[in-house]
Amino acid sequence: MADENHIVEKVNDHLYVIQGLGGNISFLITDEGVFLIDMGNSRKDGETVLEEIRRITDKPLIYVFLTHYHGDHVNGMAALPVHVPVIATEHTLENLKNITTPNRAYNIKEAYPAAIKDLKEKAQKDSTDSEKAARELKEMQKRFEAYKNESVRYPDEIFETRRTLRVGDFTVELFLPGPAHTGGNAMAFIKEMNVLITGDNLFHNDFPYIDIRGGADPYHWITIAREHSKKGYDIIIPGHGPVAKGTEALARFADYLEYAANEVRKAKEDGLTEDEAVEKITMEPYTHLGKARFRENNIRVFYNIGVASCI
Ligand SMILES: [Zn+2]
Repeated sequence: MADENHIVEKVNDHLYVIQGLGGNISFLITDEGVFLIDMGNSRKDGETVLEEIRRITDKPLIYVFLTHYHGDHVNGMAALPVHVPVIATEHTLENLKNITTPNRAYNIKEAYPAAIKDLKEKAQKDSTDSEKAARELKEMQKRFEAYKNESVRYPDEIFETRRTLRVGDFTVELFLPGPAHTGGNAMAFIKEMNVLITGDNLFHNDFPYIDIRGGADPYHWITIAREHSKKGYDIIIPGHGPVAKGTEALARFADYLEYAANEVRKAKEDGLTEDEAVEKITMEPYTHLGKARFRENNIRVFYNIGVASCI
């Protein structure tokens, strides 16, 4: 169980990161209260997050910021007390309302029954997708049972591209750098600490997931990662993987995306089909970095969106 394996890392006297409850969760403790970023993969994870915060401070939770709409970052919201304001980008709110996936606790009553029916039909058909549909169906049914009788809150303080908050003695700048991991994955910069919290705009030591349905743009992602790798942050907290000192992790991540784009471009020039490209491209220089579960996603995405002029 993920919640038995989580760790709480102290970055400094005011900033902590919880790993092992879905995406990384950060919280900033100030004299005024606690600013929390993301809430984990389930109601239970959300409860664990609140317990861990209480273990360290008796200051009240005053804000939650959701970096983006993916279940492993937002489902823990089911455990959030109603009086705490929740901040997110307009794009994230739109994604939460409109995209149904097996691993999210949103849209359960509205959209899941129809999606379950659809997956059941797909799972019964004799096609290459039926196995995948059966897997998704199982996940979706599980999530439906767990969440059908409760409503998970939508964010209620929405910004388009930038919002700056003063929290205790700290300035937290929330900003949307444009489409990358999704169309609405915003980042948080804690000015006094020179710390950047990227959400899933950085997968540290792992292949990234590129969420085209959620508005991702891998070429723009390269630009963003490159640009922020030159900004001299002291610490970067990624969406997945260990906390990084300096900006090297972002530079290496941009290198990987560029490499992946070029490998796919070469495969297409050699006349390979999409499936052949998936088979042939091993991402060899990067396989030591971490789990390969998103390698295939990366190849298929670059294969289908073509080649950007900047590469
Ligand atoms: Zn994500």
